[in-house]
Parts: sequence; structure tokens; C-alpha cells
Amino acid sequence: RTYLKFLPKIELHAHLNGSLNDKILKELGCEEDSIMQYKKLTQSIDKSDNTLQECFDVFKIAQNATKTQESVYLATKSVIEDFVRDGVVYLELRTTPRSEINMSKEEYIESVIRGIESLSGSKEKIFVKLILSIDRRHDKKTSEESLKIILKMREKYPNIIKGIDFSGNPNAGEFDAALFEEARKNGLKTSIHCAEIQNDDETKRILEFGPDRIGHATYLHPLYGGSQENWDLYCKKKIPVECCLTSNVVCGTSQSFPEHHIQEWINGSLPFSINTDDKGVFSTSLSREYQLVQRHFKLTGSNLWQISYDAIDYSFASAKEKEKMQYYLLQWLYLCH
Ligand code: 5GP
Repeated sequence: RTYLKFLPKIELHAHLNGSLNDKILKELGCEEDSIMQYKKLTQSIDKSDNTLQECFDVFKIAQNATKTQESVYLATKSVIEDFVRDGVVYLELRTTPRSEINMSKEEYIESVIRGIESLSGSKEKIFVKLILSIDRRHDKKTSEESLKIILKMREKYPNIIKGIDFSGNPNAGEFDAALFEEARKNGLKTSIHCAEIQNDDETKRILEFGPDRIGHATYLHPLYGGSQENWDLYCKKKIPVECCLTSNVVCGTSQSFPEHHIQEWINGSLPFSINTDDKGVFSTSLSREYQLVQRHFKLTGSNLWQISYDAIDYSFASAKEKEKMQYYLLQWLYLCH
């Protein structure tokens, strides 16, 4: 575990409001009861009882605690500090721009960026980038408005805002390729939650669109209920998959750790990264996720080093930043021998 904690790691899939720890929730005024609710999914013994709907309900607790610019700033800072303590050297944080009574979507984004700027590039050895999310529940007009705001903010912060994500309850809404095509045309990278539930039609449309990365891909492989046609298409495109083990097991979309679909990517030498998804809600850390993969799929320390190294390539960092991260990892290897 110590090796994994100090291994320089790359986090590509972390939602801001699912990543808050107890301490910051308390500081932001969350009652003890609400904090218990936020973490209740990991406390239930039989995870198979958890429904995806329940998992989505708990995010509201953190979102209720981050309704002002100051709280969004403090929450962002706290999440980045947690990742630094866990040996993460590159973090792509994602969040859904939200307007509240005293905060516009632009101000929400500005507050997250203020949190990022307060730590990124400082003495902390971490690069932080931002991916802005489109919520599946939002209608076409709201999503288009969000995209407009995201593109405007990106002009102001081109070194921080790198991409766009499509997330939220997979039972709601559907993937609108035209919207993400517009984002891509304007230079944003795309990371799309895909096949979290069985939905071959949508999965096909996402694969045809061809995002830079996909999130979860739980029901993509035929052994896990995906269609052969989609799997063949995936194998042609080989899009890196952001795997989030604890999240999938706790939400009940994966049956257990040993049965997690990541093994198809490991065994097939297909591109993937290991991620936390919502480390607060799922009581996890990136080093713990690495440990789970090591334990359940019998990987060596050098296999895990390689997984971290490969993730650099799938990131939305600049070429120079990628070189720097590769240097961190090579230096680590040198120091370990
Ligand atoms: P926020 O965007 O408010 O910073 O982070 C919480 C939000 O991220 C949730 O309300 C949800 O829209 C999205 N999210 C977090 N975890 C998951 C996940 O596992 N799957 C999907 N589809 N969306 C998620």
C-alpha cells in the first residue's frame, strides 16, 4: 500500500461533488446526519442492494454544501489537497456548472478555477485540469447554453479547461452527438460516460462519435451484456476507458471486484486507466483503487507503474506536461531500484 501511495499517479475521472471528504463537508456546514447519508452506500453490507438511483441521490448532499462561490472554492482546494496527499501528480477534475441564487454558472466555474490556481503549479507537485460536465437530465436548450458558457470560459482559461464530459444518471436523457461535435470542433477534448447500464443503441452512437476517452464501459464487452457489434467497433477504435472499480461495485453495476470488466482490458492489452470517480461518496482513494486492481488481478508493482505511465498518454495535458509526468515516473522507477 505504501508503494502505491507514493507511486506518482494520474487521476482522469473524479467528480468534484462526489470527492469531498467528511472534514470539508463539516466545515461547509453539513450536519453529521447528512454526512452519514453521503457515505451510506459504502456502509451497507450487501452492496448488491444499492440501486443506481440511490447512488445519484447522495450527490445532492455535497451540492447543497457548495452553493456559494467561497464554498465551491474551498471544496475544490480540499479535493486537490487530498489527491496530493495520495501521491497524485496529475488530476483531471470534472464538475457540472451550476447556477444558484447567489452564483451564476460562470461564477461557479471561476470558483473552481480559483481553487485549482491556488494549488496547481505551486510547491505541490500536481497539475490540475478541468473537465466541465453536461448533465444527462438537462434538456437540449440547457445543454446548449452550458456549452456556450463552457466555450466562453475556455477562452479565458485555455490552460485549465481542457474538456467536456457527459454524465449524470444514465437512466435519464440521451447522448446528443451534435452537441459534442460542436465542442470538439471548438477544440475541447471529450470524455463520455458510456455503457454504465445496458443501452446498446446509445453505446453505438457514442462509439461512432469516437470520444477521446470513455467512462466506465461496464456493459460494453459481450461477456458483460454488450453487443458483439459494439465490441467489434470498440476494438477497432480502442478508446481509452476510465475504470472506477469501487464505484461500479458499490452502485451494483459490477457484481464484485473479481468480476469487474477491467480484466477484459488487462487481458486484451486494451487502453484503460484506474480512477476513483467519487472518492468521498465511495470512501476510496486512488492508491486504494490501484491496490484493488493489484489484489484481484494479480498484477505486479511494475504492471501498476506501467498503468500509471500509460495514463499520461490518455490525459488531456500538453506535450510538455506529459513529458514532465513521464519524468516523475521514470525518476520514481530509478529511485526504487
Ligand atoms: P459535480 O458535477 O456536482 O461536481 O459532481 C457530482 C455529479 O457528477 C453527479 O450529480 C452526477 O451528475 C455526476 N456523477 C458522479 N458520479 C457519476 C457516475 O458514476 N456516473 C455518472 N453517469 N455520473 C456521475
